[in-house]
Amino acid sequence: MKFAKVIIDISAEQVDRAFTYRIPEELEDRIAPGVRVRVPFGNSNRTRIGFVIDLTDRIDFPEDRIKPIDSLLPKALDTAGDLIELAAFMASEYGCTMNQALQTVLPVKRKVGKNRRRQDPVREIEVLSGEAGEGNAAEAKRSDDETLNPEQTAVCAAILRENSRPTLLYGITGSGKTRVYIELIRHMQAAGKKSIVLIPEISLTYQTVRELTKHLGSKVAVMHSKLSLGEKYEQFQKAADGEIDVMVGPRSALFTPFTDLGLIVIDEEHERTYQSDTAPRYDTRIVAAKRAALSGARLVLGSATPSLESYTKALRGEYALQTLKKRAHPGALLPKIHIADMREEMEAGNRSIFSGRMQEMIRERLELGEQVMLFLNRRGYAGFVSCRSCGTVIKCPHCDVSMTAHNNWYYNPYTGAREAALLSCHYCGYTMPMPSSCPQCGSRFIAPFGTGTQKLEQAAKKMFPAARILRMDADSTTAKGSYEKILSTFQKGGADILIGTQMIVKGHDFPNVTLVGIIAADMSLNAPDYDASERTFQLITQAAGRSGRGGRAGDVVIQSYDPSHYAVELAARQDYEGFYYREMSYRKLLHYPPDIFMMQVRVRSEDEALAGEAADYAAGLCRDSFVSEGAVLIGPCNEGVYKINDNYRKILYIKHSSHAIIKKIREALAEALSERFGNRKVWFGFDIR
Ligand code: ADP
Ligand code: ZN
Ligand code: ZN
Repeated sequence: MKFAKVIIDISAEQVDRAFTYRIPEELEDRIAPGVRVRVPFGNSNRTRIGFVIDLTDRIDFPEDRIKPIDSLLPKALDTAGDLIELAAFMASEYGCTMNQALQTVLPVKRKVGKNRRRQDPVREIEVLSGEAGEGNAAEAKRSDDETLNPEQTAVCAAILRENSRPTLLYGITGSGKTRVYIELIRHMQAAGKKSIVLIPEISLTYQTVRELTKHLGSKVAVMHSKLSLGEKYEQFQKAADGEIDVMVGPRSALFTPFTDLGLIVIDEEHERTYQSDTAPRYDTRIVAAKRAALSGARLVLGSATPSLESYTKALRGEYALQTLKKRAHPGALLPKIHIADMREEMEAGNRSIFSGRMQEMIRERLELGEQVMLFLNRRGYAGFVSCRSCGTVIKCPHCDVSMTAHNNWYYNPYTGAREAALLSCHYCGYTMPMPSSCPQCGSRFIAPFGTGTQKLEQAAKKMFPAARILRMDADSTTAKGSYEKILSTFQKGGADILIGTQMIVKGHDFPNVTLVGIIAADMSLNAPDYDASERTFQLITQAAGRSGRGGRAGDVVIQSYDPSHYAVELAARQDYEGFYYREMSYRKLLHYPPDIFMMQVRVRSEDEALAGEAADYAAGLCRDSFVSEGAVLIGPCNEGVYKINDNYRKILYIKHSSHAIIKKIREALAEALSERFGNRKVWFGFDIR
């Protein structure tokens, strides 16, 4: 390449205003994204230091106006170079532009708004943990016990010895993975090094954040998805200035500009939120491994239910594998699991949401003053609304999905009792009032079907009128700080039953919870994804892991319409390895990841015919050029939800055993498609698993 694009000031805003310089011949082999250079700048003869962000052969103006790079500077103890190199890696790995990658990796410079009340997210959590501690003396005392158990000590030592590979830390629920992270962070602090702890979502890992801030104090900064750009920038600035030792946050915290990075932890590594859903659609685990390699840091991936992908890498030796097999709290045992077959309940005449076993055990806990968590993976009041006369289902006018009933709507077609209700679309947010009659046939017998968390709450209140009940889901946590409030109220014993979606499932540690009820275990089994069993296994195992974490034994009741399914059965036995081998044999048989690589080519357009044409064209290209190279093409077909937000969605799958070939196919497709459809209203996305 003959020219280099250079930015002088390191921020995402500068990327679009990069300056072009000629690369002198003697430097040709050494100029790459991320290197530091000295360049002439402005009209005077002054030079300034800049960073190369991209190389190119094409320029839009006369070559004689372009000045040459003055000199190449040695790599500095500065993260900017590493981050730009990381962006270059992402651009090549995920097929995005260098600009998109840089916008993701470099800090966005924004000042905190003047009128905004400044809130320190760490403060919020510290205050909370103080309150929670007071309400539960036994718990506060236990947290003061700083000694690691022998299993934890051995794992820490092994992770620190491992200096070239990431470590997968597979530790059962309650085995004390957070303590291991804290010990590793302390070790880094002693060596003057910084740490990044990634969590899937703050509401899912409230406990982890609390533990970290409690043990590591003011040296921890927390990033929220609810922080403004200005507040995020401030946190990054603190890190760059060396004011903090640890950054905790969602996947974007991976780009914290620490200079002396010693450790990256990815907690609950199996979570889907680590897969970016906007361009560049990166996998945090892969990018973290690259950043760790660039800065010589350790990478730890922790989970009680590792993704099949990571466990496969561990078995192949690409990752080191460490395991924690015992619950850490002295005396804590794994919970006892009971399965309730809902088909049998139905036959026996039980029409309630709760099986007989569930009712009995909830009553028992309420009498003993112990706490219960009830988990249901669907928010709202009901699944869908349909007409009992003609079968019409009320659908969103912008999406190809049914509307969900909210606000405790209740309608009895036989007595006529009715309350105001709202229907909402969980895909685009569109809302409308509940129709009083069927829009198709005019019948008044139109009613909600299925169960959501709101209906579960209503049913629980009716069945256990004396119980104090809290609900936590996307509807009850829209306000800033609301999830901390719900969780700390529950933690302090301010409620007997906590009802919620997957938000309540992971990473929480409530010692007084001795019963966990999983209302509809196989709901996620029916999702149209090849990894539906894996998701179900993870959800049940994680939910079950919330029970009996203190001194008392715990129970779990799993309600299922398909109790003999291996994902349900093996989760009930907490048998991760058993599940891994069973599920892998299925993936191998049907050629799904992680056995092979699979690329999804997604096509979207508001113009249905254009979406179809573009998808067919992509499939044709693949058939003509790559099937002979061993690629397997499936589709194109409509996506599971064909229309979202007025966009028609087509998808095709391309499978291959070689990652290099899949990437080559992606590049060829992206180029050919942008050439042919570049100026038409159709959008393409590529995802490799
Ligand atoms: P995990 O994240 O693996 O599910 P946690 O880190 O939440 O587990 O730990 C579970 C519980 O055990 C917590 O209450 C924690 O304070 C406690 N714990 C962890 N390690 C120890 C230890 N070495 N001694 C006593 N209690 C511990
Ligand atoms: Zn009708
Ligand atoms: Zn919609």
